Amino acid sequence: MATKLIAAAVLAVLLGFSVLRWRTAQLHTKILLGLGIGAAAGIAGKFWFPGADWLLWIVDNVANPIGQVFLRMLFMIVIPLIFGSVTLGVASLGDLKKIGRIGGKAFGFFFATTAAAATIGLTLMNVIAPGRRMDPAVRADLLAEYGGEAASRVGGGVDFGINTFVNIVPRNIVDTMARMDMLGLIFFSIVFGIALTQIPKEKAKPIMDILDGLVEAVSRIIDYAMRLAPYGVAGLIFAVTVRFGTDVLQSLLFYVMTVMLGLILHLTGVIGLLAKFLLGIPYRTFFRKCRTLMVTAFSTSSSNATLPENIKTAEEEFGVPKEIASFVLPLGATMNMNGTALFEGMTVLFLSQVFALGLSIPSQIAVVILCVITAVGAAGVPGGSIPLLALILTTVNIPAEGIALILGVDRILDMSRTVPNVMGDQLTALFVAKTEGVALDTTG
Ligand code: ASP
Repeated sequence: MATKLIAAAVLAVLLGFSVLRWRTAQLHTKILLGLGIGAAAGIAGKFWFPGADWLLWIVDNVANPIGQVFLRMLFMIVIPLIFGSVTLGVASLGDLKKIGRIGGKAFGFFFATTAAAATIGLTLMNVIAPGRRMDPAVRADLLAEYGGEAASRVGGGVDFGINTFVNIVPRNIVDTMARMDMLGLIFFSIVFGIALTQIPKEKAKPIMDILDGLVEAVSRIIDYAMRLAPYGVAGLIFAVTVRFGTDVLQSLLFYVMTVMLGLILHLTGVIGLLAKFLLGIPYRTFFRKCRTLMVTAFSTSSSNATLPENIKTAEEEFGVPKEIASFVLPLGATMNMNGTALFEGMTVLFLSQVFALGLSIPSQIAVVILCVITAVGAAGVPGGSIPLLALILTTVNIPAEGIALILGVDRILDMSRTVPNVMGDQLTALFVAKTEGVALDTTG
């Protein structure tokens, strides 16, 4: 009874505070309020009326639709945004040498931070070893409950070989766009941008003007979408919390907490400190300027959906030039996933502990390498890394069905790992800009 009263009081205070602040609040505060209200209402609903039909009705007919409209508004512009901005970025960079230099720096930084993330993850998992504590009965229950879903999510598996690279080159660009194959689209846009620099100026200029207008219009649509963000975020988080299985959370609590700890350590320890010591951005300023970015990543669970906000943050908050932000960040959203690599490494080791299949140090090093590679291949959408996780598991001889054990808590981990994913991209764009001689805006 006492806990219910406390929960009611917290919800009432939050609602009252939000109503008072709403009219004058800035967008990022509204998004945070939306996140808080959605989560509190979802937890309260689940707590007081577990499984009630009307609650699920609200999820299906109100919360989810609002959240999906917000998400779709963001996804809707990702293709024109990537095509327009990467092409323009490459074309404005002008010479091939500069494009190669910037691309090289970005890749180097992506790989270094992703490898650091996976190493942190594996080290923590070795130390805390939550997999050794799992009760075999709980393991059997989870395998039975999520086994079917795991099989459908993993699908026929992912082949990784020479064709993975060949397939980056699109056969049909319309098909590539329709399938939202980001690597293929980026490849096409880079080649198209380079070609624009090599044809006569009077022919290239009209196309660049059109692309400029396209990116401008798309940016306006992002503003519309972000105005919806406080409501969309509230809807998404409400649906997640109402549907979230607290029983699963309890049986996997140690695992979830260890992964969260790893993500927080990487975000605050590696990303935050690199921003401070490498780029000279005061610690708090860095995170304050990235507030909206982090909340958008957390609530959408998607690097792609967060890409527009990521570009906006780099340009408007830190003064990264357009051609760098629009070249590096789409690459990052597709190829650089620090949180995902950390999560994959930890989960592989966790499952090896659950199944009592020891992973030797050389195998763990192989896991780090595989995490870095597969984080490049994972799609920046909710749950995008699950099929690739299966690939790593199979490679190191751990049963891929083990994914069933963690699927029940994947959504919350997905939301959380997407935050370091996009923050790693932002950091890379800042690093590239700084090393290209840009004076970053580190004030405010
Ligand atoms: N949701 C992640 C992202 O979009 C990908 C994943 O780890 O599943 O960055």
